[in-house]
Amino acid sequence: MHRIVLLGPPASGKGTQSHRISELLNIPHLSTGNILRKEVENGTPTGLEAQKYLDKGAYVPDELILSMVQAWLSERPDGWLLDGFPRTLAQAEALQDLDGVGKPTLVLGLEVPKEALVSRMEGRRECADCGKTVSLKEGDEEICSDCGGKLVKRSDDVLDSFLVRYANYEELTMPLFDFYAEKGILERIDGTVAPDAVFAQIKQHLETNEVHGEA
Ligand code: AMP
Repeated sequence: MHRIVLLGPPASGKGTQSHRISELLNIPHLSTGNILRKEVENGTPTGLEAQKYLDKGAYVPDELILSMVQAWLSERPDGWLLDGFPRTLAQAEALQDLDGVGKPTLVLGLEVPKEALVSRMEGRRECADCGKTVSLKEGDEEICSDCGGKLVKRSDDVLDSFLVRYANYEELTMPLFDFYAEKGILERIDGTVAPDAVFAQIKQHLETNEVHGEA
């Protein structure tokens, strides 16, 4: 069974790769960022609380994320893929101990240097309907090729917010590479290459995980 965590800095391609992995393995995929943006859009109490953090690029409090993720995981006993969670050591430790939820079997760490991320962030659009992430080039139509939905720029994809998110990532999320390396389940992925080439690396690790990841 696959219980996978995808780690990586903002705009490193986590969303794109998550969609591919979840399709390939037919496992459910949770993007905590997408869920939070939907909550904000729908004006729910969680959304109103989260909005205070999102646009600034700040991480939302661990308790808020944890209750959301726990509820989702408890309904998915047959494997899962998490994109954007855990993001802090406290979240990673909590995930190891969640009642009735198995521990991660594989952690994929996407590595992309900061300079490359800034230009990716500037061209990044997200489908307002299906959540697909797209890298827009000049002259491209702002319409989702999968579902025809409108492509929009995320409100936190501006330089100030990006720099805060990146600084948080360095300080709070990078330590998770060591956390999972010590558990022997981290695989580092070169995220600087084209999406297909990133996916090819991931597929190799998934095959190994299928054989050894029955914990
Ligand atoms: P993402 O779509 O993964 O880039 O997430 C967008 C924003 O949602 C982040 O900048 C945070 O404000 C918030 N967020 C998503 N996941 C988490 C998490 N696990 N812990 C704290 N904040 C999160």
